[in-house]
Amino acid sequence: MTILASIEEMQAQSDAWRRKSFSIALVPTMGALHAGHMELVRTARRLADRVIVSIFVNPTQFAPGEDFEEYPRDLETDCRILREEGGVDVVFAPHLETMYPPTSNATKVEVYGLTDTLCGPHRPGHFTGVATIVARLLNICKPDFACFGQKDIQQFAIVRKMVKDLNMDVHIEGVGIVREPDGLALSSRNRYLGEEARRQSTVLSMAVTRAADLIASGVRSASVIEDQMREIIETSPLADLQYVEVVDGESLARVRELTPGRSAIAATAVYFGETRLIDNTFIPKVPD
Ligand code: AMP
Repeated sequence: MTILASIEEMQAQSDAWRRKSFSIALVPTMGALHAGHMELVRTARRLADRVIVSIFVNPTQFAPGEDFEEYPRDLETDCRILREEGGVDVVFAPHLETMYPPTSNATKVEVYGLTDTLCGPHRPGHFTGVATIVARLLNICKPDFACFGQKDIQQFAIVRKMVKDLNMDVHIEGVGIVREPDGLALSSRNRYLGEEARRQSTVLSMAVTRAADLIASGVRSASVIEDQMREIIETSPLADLQYVEVVDGESLARVRELTPGRSAIAATAVYFGETRLIDNTFIPKVPD
């Protein structure tokens, strides 16, 4: 497993692989790796001959006041975890100044239409930061496949739309949410939770599971589903609810009634103190 920090070296490595007709899969991460990231790595390995894991805490996807400075960074531990997992050929870990030279006034990628709901209104500029860094990582790593977790389902939808709208020659692969035994979706931010908050944080997965159960049992009213999700989250005294929303699975638009045959997402974001957690359930096809 080679660790590269330079854009030129990464591009040269990918060019060399492509000349040999090796297919390449990229797993973009911000590090602080956990079993959710490892599921993406295994998916990448299944898809392609060569696997790149990028590790970069991207400043432009954090709003002022968010946790950019505090975000956990430990490249050595991340590399150890990846070596133990196996199957990773290159870790691309550029320095901040490499990606964002101090004087840069760089081009941004703005994906229209999927940011009016869910995390969009609560994190202004976040998805432009995400789309821009992902576009750049795709140009640097030149993969045939890039793997994204459905835990960040809005990010996944936005990256897919960017690739389609900009005719980028890469397949975006979604990977299901990896959870702790008690249901909490794995996240690099879970380590911030105190013992009591960690215990109560299961309300997110309970809420999205209830949404999935309600949909399976025939409930079609978004407000009925949202009310029940809210009720579950409010059983936690430490939870500070940001949103619960039921949206169309493609357009991410709010719906009043779910339409049989279409996909749907029920999602939530909740603060525990300073720590913001998200979770969702994706229903591929609302039953008749
Ligand atoms: P991050 O390092 O948090 O930016 O995440 C990097 C990638 O891992 C993103 O595509 C995430 O959606 C994905 N990911 C993070 N947590 C999970 C999880 N619990 N299950 C599946 N994928 C995840």
